[in-house]
Amino acid sequence: MTDLPARPPDAKKLGLVIDLDVCVGCHACATACKEWNSGGHSAPLPDFQPYGADAWGVWFNRVHSFEEGEGAGARTVHFPRSCLHCDEPACVTVCPTGASYKRAEDGIVLVNAEICIGCKLCSWACPYGAREFDEDQGVMKKCTLCIDRIYNDNLPESERLPACVMVCPTSARHFGDFGDPGSAVSELVAARAGKDLMPELGYRPVNKYLPPRRAHGENPAGHPAASPAEPVQPGESRLLRWVDRLLSR
Ligand code: SF4
Ligand code: SF4
Repeated sequence: MTDLPARPPDAKKLGLVIDLDVCVGCHACATACKEWNSGGHSAPLPDFQPYGADAWGVWFNRVHSFEEGEGAGARTVHFPRSCLHCDEPACVTVCPTGASYKRAEDGIVLVNAEICIGCKLCSWACPYGAREFDEDQGVMKKCTLCIDRIYNDNLPESERLPACVMVCPTSARHFGDFGDPGSAVSELVAARAGKDLMPELGYRPVNKYLPPRRAHGENPAGHPAASPAEPVQPGESRLLRWVDRLLSR
């Protein structure tokens, strides 16, 4: 099993904020991720039967669209999903070879394909479905936060961002250091009451989601109401609670 690193108190904690209020589900982030990473740190990202009825492949970022509610209260919710670079990632601690690891210096969770034995324990341990198995190479892969972009001195400084953040046409995706309470991402999360996904599991995801603003304080007919056994806490988003339930199925 693999230990988590001791983190210096001033270590960076890099991650993403995803704004569900303005995501339009265009899949630009998913395709830019696929394009960049097909030639990047974890390349290749294979596809299988790409033009067949059962097409599937390795995608580090997937956008799911759901219909939520009925009638006047109905809405379409677009939910981009990728690794959340958790602070307590069981995907790392279950790894028998040390192939899955969390970096001390910036908190990014990575896989060393050289020593991955393809046992898939990490994908069983990840409750967010963020691990992707490469059947060709027999190794696990996942979002790297584009480490080969964000530290790439050959790129202009303005482009040292994850590919998904670079291309999002609605600026629904933000990248930065959550270890710095004064960073733009920390302030955005504080201002918009950003949420963890499934916080009760204790993985302490670094990535945050911003709930749709129009849902704040609103409970139109048709929205899924919290059951009496699962009261919605003050400041909790009904919609993100609903997304958590979908992920838990
Ligand atoms: Fe949503 Fe932006 Fe991704 Fe498009 S690129 S699906 S708007 S997060
Ligand atoms: Fe690991 Fe999943 Fe958390 Fe990513 S989202 S760090 S794969 S547990």
